[in-house]
Amino acid sequence: MKRLAFLLFTGLLTFQAFSQEKSQEQPKLVVGIVVDQMRYDYLTRFWDRFGEDGFKKLINEGYNFKNNHFNYVPTYTGPGHASVYTGTSPMNHGIIGNGWYDKFIHESVYCAGDDSVESVGTQDDAGKMSPHRMKTTSFADENRLHTQMRGKTIGVALKDRGSILPAGHTANAAYWFHGADEGKWITSSFYMDELPQWVKDFNDSDKVEAYLKTWNTLYDIETYKESGSDVNEFEGGYRGKETASFPYDLTELGDTDRKFEILKASAYGNDITTDFALAAIDAEELGQDEDTDVLTLSYSSTDYIGHNFGVNSKEVQDAYLRLDQNIADLLTHLDEKVGEGNYTIFLTADHGGVDVPAYLESVNIPAGYFESDEFTEELKEFTSEEFDEDELIESVYNSQIFFNYEVMEEAEISSSELQSKLAHYILQLDQIDKVFTRDQLSGGSFVTGAGAAIQNGFNQKRSGDVVYVLDPATIVYSRTGSTHGSGLMYDTHAPLIFYGNGVKKGSTTQRTEIVDIAPTVSSILGISFPNGTTGTPLFMMLDAEETEISE
Ligand SMILES: [Zn+2]
Repeated sequence: MKRLAFLLFTGLLTFQAFSQEKSQEQPKLVVGIVVDQMRYDYLTRFWDRFGEDGFKKLINEGYNFKNNHFNYVPTYTGPGHASVYTGTSPMNHGIIGNGWYDKFIHESVYCAGDDSVESVGTQDDAGKMSPHRMKTTSFADENRLHTQMRGKTIGVALKDRGSILPAGHTANAAYWFHGADEGKWITSSFYMDELPQWVKDFNDSDKVEAYLKTWNTLYDIETYKESGSDVNEFEGGYRGKETASFPYDLTELGDTDRKFEILKASAYGNDITTDFALAAIDAEELGQDEDTDVLTLSYSSTDYIGHNFGVNSKEVQDAYLRLDQNIADLLTHLDEKVGEGNYTIFLTADHGGVDVPAYLESVNIPAGYFESDEFTEELKEFTSEEFDEDELIESVYNSQIFFNYEVMEEAEISSSELQSKLAHYILQLDQIDKVFTRDQLSGGSFVTGAGAAIQNGFNQKRSGDVVYVLDPATIVYSRTGSTHGSGLMYDTHAPLIFYGNGVKKGSTTQRTEIVDIAPTVSSILGISFPNGTTGTPLFMMLDAEETEISE
């Protein structure tokens, strides 16, 4: 108890120290960059191929956290973006998946879906989105509150959830890309009733259309020694081309009536995102006055490409070499428009990705594919036989089993009994590694390991009643391409680089977590931490001298 009080006391002192040290030279702009499906090892694997002005500049002149992890399961895009910006995990922010089974309305919901708002910029339903399912604030929200709403927040990403969740509840705007037959940046009536003129102008220009061209490798493909062969059995590819190999004529491939969709799944999707982000910096005058603005920027194409071709593909390598140039362009633009030293950047990911299991199997590493439909049937059979009651299982979603509480009540079956019998049964099945029950996850705290990660991802209100974990490198997916979602290293180990105003030069191999990002940014800005924060500011990187105070 004494120790706890001491810790609380020093914590308070440290935080106050930061608030007081809030200098005149605060960043005028914070740019959060999330690269969808970026594994940490892309930085090291492709290091020699990067130019001097992109990733290398961020790392050489910033602070590189080499052992940074997601501290929860499931590692998906929605939870990832929410956790980066809210400083907490699904346990508190409530984004427990990209979609999940909503047991209160008895149907599945999408993390950013919102039928109460309208699309803006398209007739399509693709704009009916908002952050209403995220229960806590993001640091962008806290910055808005702190600056009496004078500091702006703009969100940009091809994926709606990659734009909406980071920008938070108080954003001036979040924009995402509607491919299909339109190729336009859109938003929702949650933010505004009409697109601003600069977005209309961007959409009316031929900027997007210009990327409907051939995607070939940036450099001679023979020099791409850091990835697997271009033709192999582990890649998906685009419809309309027999082999998943360069070059790809994007005007010919893909759906004729949805011709812009393929751009999202090519390296050019990141170019389009960069073009739009630079236009946003100019038109919204980000970083031009005393109140700090926030630009949340996510690069989604890397995820589509990883899913399609696998994390070891030439396509992924090329996407990162091109993204390196996007980052360089962004830095140059920020130096010109906001000024060197006037902005702070962090770059991280929303999750990693697994090597294609079929490839791992081919080199004798344990891996596999799990048939989730068969599994669900087995569960239903087991509960019918064991309890003489059908329909006890209402849904299986994101490796969580949701019970039907009405049937349980009528049959007088207790949740605890169903949980423990089901958990015991599931653990005996092939490809199942671990099982956790609601009683276990609500009854105490796991400190480390898989239990802690499951618990951090378990929202008492929204999550299911039994959670199962598959064997390492075992996925529910096609036999080509990569996916993610687990608590294993390939999914949790993500880059984290800070750069610019308020950031020391350096690096560490000490473990840090995704939830530390938001309180760190808040410390730099001297603003309140997001209201559900569970992470800790990364003090080793901050410029302020606080060693004596915190012991
Ligand atoms: Zn993904």
